[in-house]
Amino acid sequence: MSRNAESTAFRSALEVIRAVEPRVADAIGAELTDQRESLKLIASENYASPATLLAMGNWFSDKYAEGTVGRRFYAGCQNVDTVEALAAEHARELFGAAHAYVQPHSGIDANLVAFWAILADRVESPALRKAQVRQVNDLTEADWFALRRELGNQRMLGMSLDAGGHLTHGFRPNISGKMFDQRSYGTDPETGLIDYDRVAEAAREFKPLILVGGYSAYPRKVNFRILREIADSVGATFMVDMAHFAGLVAGKVFTGDFDPVPHAHIVTTTTHKSLRGPRGGMVLCQPELADQVDRGCPMVLGGPLPHVMAAKAVALAEARRPEFADYAQRIVDNSQALAEGLLRRGAKLVTGGTDNHLVLIDVSGYGLTGRQAEQALLDSGIVTNRNSVPQDPNGAWYTSGIRIGTPALTTRGLGTAEMDQTAELIHTVLTQTTAGANADGTPSKAKYTLDADLADKISRQAADLLAPHPLYPAVDLT
Ligand code: PLP
Repeated sequence: MSRNAESTAFRSALEVIRAVEPRVADAIGAELTDQRESLKLIASENYASPATLLAMGNWFSDKYAEGTVGRRFYAGCQNVDTVEALAAEHARELFGAAHAYVQPHSGIDANLVAFWAILADRVESPALRKAQVRQVNDLTEADWFALRRELGNQRMLGMSLDAGGHLTHGFRPNISGKMFDQRSYGTDPETGLIDYDRVAEAAREFKPLILVGGYSAYPRKVNFRILREIADSVGATFMVDMAHFAGLVAGKVFTGDFDPVPHAHIVTTTTHKSLRGPRGGMVLCQPELADQVDRGCPMVLGGPLPHVMAAKAVALAEARRPEFADYAQRIVDNSQALAEGLLRRGAKLVTGGTDNHLVLIDVSGYGLTGRQAEQALLDSGIVTNRNSVPQDPNGAWYTSGIRIGTPALTTRGLGTAEMDQTAELIHTVLTQTTAGANADGTPSKAKYTLDADLADKISRQAADLLAPHPLYPAVDLT
């Protein structure tokens, strides 16, 4: 394929859009410019391939396709069947999974599908059996009452938010925290690592229906074999949310005990983080849960997005290529180089380093809150996000941490030498930023001072780092 094809495709698309609403075409173009110019260290973001992006912009978007391959509630789904079956096949092959459901619109949706499937599989309830889609009209008032009572108060044990767990693992701002009686396992206060004995103890005491593994901000590998043993010892279903590190599983950086797929009953993921696909979610599961998982739409989800499933098929096909394994290894090499560069300069890192795609800096070592550090870095052209650290004294809004990740910069082709330079830029900004005060003289958790000339200088240095690694080099919109 000629490099020109990508330019032509995107330029033509913008021309067509511009004819209807030029401001949208301008915003799309501006987004490319912004993404090209920023040193993106957001651990959950990436850059999907042109093929993946283009697979989403077409007439598949017009099609309703509730149901599953070959069993739709709408006619005329033969082409949707093709792409959904392809995406599922690539997912099964890539991850060695017995079953793949590729309809979830996002990671949160994938988790909801999994929760429903586990409840439906595990909770013994004649009312629930009747409530399955096809019999829902047969339910009496008494059945509904029994259903609510029987499904209610089920227990979930997941990683605590400040140790790096995700909102959907049973926390109040998410429906999972309202559906389930939740308890958390944290990390060892000294090492910052998961203490599996403590998880086992919590499981023995709490006896959860679901044990959840997986995280958004834990910079280490997780031993899923041990977690499965813990789940088995208390009769829990073991679910892993690999949204963040799916790319490392796909690229065989995480294997054996650290690959969740052979150990978990059910695995959920996003497709847009380290996996580098379109925005979306996916569920992989053991055969006994497949039937319930496939009821995701319409039980939990709105109609499938066939254009996104087409893009998932493309991205998963890319992830099956040998070069994706190389990419996944480089993500971790870069993350470790970044961590080492920061440590060498005196930064305090949660767990003292990383063995995945992310690094969590405890910015209290610089006398800052996460909010102040995030803004000061942004002023300097470095895009990160603030994040709680274990036992964070500043709570989930201001926080004491900055989470940085390497999947996006690795896609651009930056390597370990540039990660060391990135560490220098981050460390310089954080050492030169001072916490501000409120009008009454009390310390502010949001205000800060950073010399504007220094911020400009760092922004230019960040741009210099990116210059040899243009984003979407074949796409020229001029
Ligand atoms: N699960 C984990 C572990 C996540 O980190 C995230 C997002 O950050 C999600 C689920 C939710 O994904 P989405 O934003 O696609 O709903």
